[in-house]
Amino acid sequence: EKVKVAVNGYGTIGKRVADAIRLQPDMELIGVGKTSPNYEAIIADKKGIKIYTVKDNLGKFEKSGIRVAGTIEDMVKEADIVVDTTPNGVGATYKPLYQSLGKNALFQGGEKADVADISFSALCNYDEAKGKKYIRVVSCNTTGMLRIICTMNKISKVEKVRATIVRRAADPKEVKRGPINSIVPDPASVPSHHAKDVLTVIKGIDIVTMAVIAPTTLMHLHTMVLTVKNKVNRDDIINTFLNTPRIILVNSSRTTVSSTAEIIEVSRDMGRVRYDIPEVVVFEDSIYTNGNEVFLMYGVHQESIVVPENIDAIRASLGLMGKEESIKVTNDTLGIMK
Ligand code: NAD
Repeated sequence: EKVKVAVNGYGTIGKRVADAIRLQPDMELIGVGKTSPNYEAIIADKKGIKIYTVKDNLGKFEKSGIRVAGTIEDMVKEADIVVDTTPNGVGATYKPLYQSLGKNALFQGGEKADVADISFSALCNYDEAKGKKYIRVVSCNTTGMLRIICTMNKISKVEKVRATIVRRAADPKEVKRGPINSIVPDPASVPSHHAKDVLTVIKGIDIVTMAVIAPTTLMHLHTMVLTVKNKVNRDDIINTFLNTPRIILVNSSRTTVSSTAEIIEVSRDMGRVRYDIPEVVVFEDSIYTNGNEVFLMYGVHQESIVVPENIDAIRASLGLMGKEESIKVTNDTLGIMK
């Protein structure tokens, strides 16, 4: 029997997670929680997804002709697990509801770490998350960093990380965010919170991060320097990345793909849904070693990188599958390259 999953908050992350759930052999999407009857709700309705809303907005949905199946509370009652994808900080306000109905729940990176029993990244700590009632899937940037750090850890223990995060200014649908003509240190002070967020998943590394916002909507780009215990060589790193799920390499000199714009164009040419790229995309030419230091740059597609993580976190929380099997099923169903 399939597990019943509800998605509360149907925006950038929620709609992708909802679609992903519908592709899983062991999951059933029972519905989505949506507050406003906007274009996203209209499309969900057309796709045959059941919509639930807050009591006060039932009338608004009715007026706009969008079918509503009930209140968010009704939806949660029906679910085995809720994926909360409401905006930053709103997830925590829903926790008492999930708790009072005894439901497992996933939260996103915009929530404080203490909202959940564990912060999650599939490659790093799937096994530790098994059976946990409340799991927080870390943010897009943290997910990208953790995939790289946990993979490097397999080659040689990562002792120190220094990274700069060049963040996209807005998601493509966000009309009111910027900047559009400036690069802004954000936060202005160092370190940025991303380092602390990495440490919610793995312990014992010396990590400092800085961040700037750049006027782009497509992807984030990170530059990272890792100090590992032993001297490493470039080929070992490339081979390990080649054999790791959800990390792909792009060779700029061979393919001429040398920017986030061209990475996205490849995804569009491939006909990927919403041009999503849930893999971390490492610029192969940027990988450089200097003794026990490793330098690299990689792109993170903010809208989709956490989607497979949410699917795996559902399985970890409900104990449906082991790590390797879950990653494989998620990747196969979502068309992730490996
Ligand atoms: P979003 O604004 O696109 O979507 C949030 C949705 O929740 C909207 O549809 C909104 O109408 C709905 N909502 C608002 N209040 C609600 C309420 N009280 N009850 C039910 N639904 C409500 O936001 P998003 O970008 O999808 O972000 C969601 C979470 O995912 C945040 O924690 C964010 O930090 C995290 N996240 C976002 C990104 C990204 O790049 N967009 C990447 C990784 C993680």
